[in-house]
Order: sequence, then structure tokens, then C-alpha cells
Amino acid sequence: MIMQMPVRNSPPSPAASAASASWKRELADAVRDPAELCRLLGLDPAVAGQAAAAGSGFPLLVPRGFIARMKPRDPADPLLLQVLPRVEEDDEVAGFSADPLAEQQARRAGGLIQKYAGRALLLLTGGCAVNCRYCFRREFPYTESGATPAGRAVALEELAADSSIHEVILSGGDPLLLDDLQLARLVTDLGRITHLRRLRIHSRLPVVLPSRVTTDLTALLSASRLAVSMVIHANHAAELDDAVAAALARLAGGVPLRFNQAVLLRGVNDDADILAALSERLIEVGVTPYYLHLLDPVRGAAGFAVSETRGRELIDQLRRRLPGYAVPRLARERPGEPAKVWIA
Ligand SMILES: *Cc1c(COP(=O)(O)O)cnc(C)c1O
Ligand code: SF4
Repeated sequence: MIMQMPVRNSPPSPAASAASASWKRELADAVRDPAELCRLLGLDPAVAGQAAAAGSGFPLLVPRGFIARMKPRDPADPLLLQVLPRVEEDDEVAGFSADPLAEQQARRAGGLIQKYAGRALLLLTGGCAVNCRYCFRREFPYTESGATPAGRAVALEELAADSSIHEVILSGGDPLLLDDLQLARLVTDLGRITHLRRLRIHSRLPVVLPSRVTTDLTALLSASRLAVSMVIHANHAAELDDAVAAALARLAGGVPLRFNQAVLLRGVNDDADILAALSERLIEVGVTPYYLHLLDPVRGAAGFAVSETRGRELIDQLRRRLPGYAVPRLARERPGEPAKVWIA
């Protein structure tokens, strides 16, 4: 059912437009060439050569602000490892496939995916501000899956017709790549669907491109009748520098609930000290650790896999040293299950 609601979002002020231009400029200026990344970090050009030849179809993409948080001359830097294509990505590994979560089977109409009761994912775009090598959607056919303006319109009709759905999760790609005007329109349209109660946004942009968190963005989110939450994605405390902390403080002005999901990644954060530091830093910047995901077995990501046993050990160690609210739930997705599977 649709109800008419006054549009409370005013058009952006000139100052806000300048702020929005800044994140768009930073995105356009992101590094796409492995040779440039290696030059910026003072790494051996041979590393760049290997990266340039690897990761076919899923190119390097990383904003300069994220590169600035990497340690120069360290090929094992945990932020670098997340973005630098590796030769092994092209190896076929048993059990690792293009669509490990069977999301194609969970498609409804337009850009809508539903696997779990009461909640549906709305795919808005295939784009991201960073290409994470372990991403489970690295081969996802976004355009055919309705992650387009036309698919959005169809999805809104489907949502309006299904009163069992109470929460919409904006997903992607990265939903915050839509600009404030597009998002304001969407949030208004969603607010008119009376059976919706909650709006959740899954985005890595507050971490990798913190200038995206404009005051216009927080204003348009807080203007919604829906209970708004945001789930950010950081895997290591070094991702959460002062600029990110400031963005999360701005976000707190409009989004009362902020969570983090991380992926357990070999060589990046498969260590109790590193995970504890991540949790401590998240709490410090006003974000609750939510999920620690075991890697989804997507083709190309096998080099990041950490065993379930090791995951359990790590959570056990975190429980001994952190307050309960700072310990994430170790979880994994299994196609066909009614919810994510909690392992610890
Ligand atoms: C993770 C996920 C959700 C949200 O699950 P929560 O446990 O509510 O965070 C919803 N739909 C899909 C398809 C998901 O993968
Ligand atoms: S930001 Fe998220 S969706 Fe985009 S590549 Fe990284 S993990 Fe995948």
C-alpha cells in the first residue's frame, strides 16, 4: 500500500553541492593502474607487472585516501592485500564458483533479492568505490539483475505489493554511489510504502571514501519515517583513520544505528590482536561490530580463505578480552538456509 507523504528533503545548498562534488572528484581520481599504485607505495615494479596481468575482468580500483592509509614499501600491508590483484586469482580452485550464494535463484523482480523473511535486498548499482579481491559479487551480473533505474522502479512496485517485507536493505555494488538527489527520491518512495518499517544501507563508502558522508546525506536519511541503520565494511583498524572517524561522527547525526561487517581474511585480519584492535577502534568511532563473515567461496578468492576452526578459535580469544558488545558474530552464508548461519 502506498501513502502520500510530504517530501521533507529540500534541494542541496550550494555549499552542500560543493561537498558532493568533492567525493565525485575523488572517485573519478581513484587509482586503476597497478603500476601507479606500486609507484605511490614505493613497491617493486615487478609486483605491479604481476598485478596488471592478474584478476581478469575485475580490475584494480582504489581511492587515493585509502592508499594513504597503507604502509609504504610493505607488500604485505593488510589494506594493500585487499585490493591488489594476485596471479592466483586466475587459478580454478575446487569449491570456488561464480555465484557461491546462489543469489541468482533468490531474485524476485527488478533489483530485488530476497532470501530471508521480512527483509529484502535492493540492488541499486554494480559499481563500488573500491574493488575488493575477495568480493562474493565479483562476477555478479548486475545489469541483468535489475541493478538499474528501470529495475528500481519494478522493485518498488514489488515491495509495495508484498506486506510481509518490513525492511529494505540497499545494497550493490555500493548504494551510496547514487547521489543525494537519487537517494532522496528513493528514500521518499520507500517511506510511502506503509508496511515498511526499516531501511538499512550496506556500504563501504564511509570507510573507503569518507567524503561521501555529506551533511545532505545524513539529513535525507534522518528525514525518513523509517528506522534507518547503516552497516559499514571495514576489515582492519588501519582502515579507520581520522577522516573516517569524522565521517562516522557526521553519520551519527542522522543514522542512529551503525554496525560493521568484516570478512575474515587470511593475511589481513586472521589474528586475535588485529581483530581486537578492529573492534576497539569501531567502538571508539561509534560503530558496533556485527558480523565477521567466513569467506564466501567465490572464484578468485581462495587465497583469502580461513578455516571455520580457526574462526572459532579467534572468536573465543576475542570473547576473553572484549566486552560482549564488541565481539562480532562469526557467520557464514549457506544457500537455502533461512538465515545466515551463526558459527560462534
Ligand atoms: C545478509 C543478508 C541479509 C541480511 O541479513 P541480517 O542477518 O538481517 O543482517 C538479507 N538478505 C540477504 C540476501 C543477505 O545476504
Ligand atoms: S565494496 Fe563491497 S560490494 Fe564492493 S567490491 Fe568491496 S566487498 Fe564487494
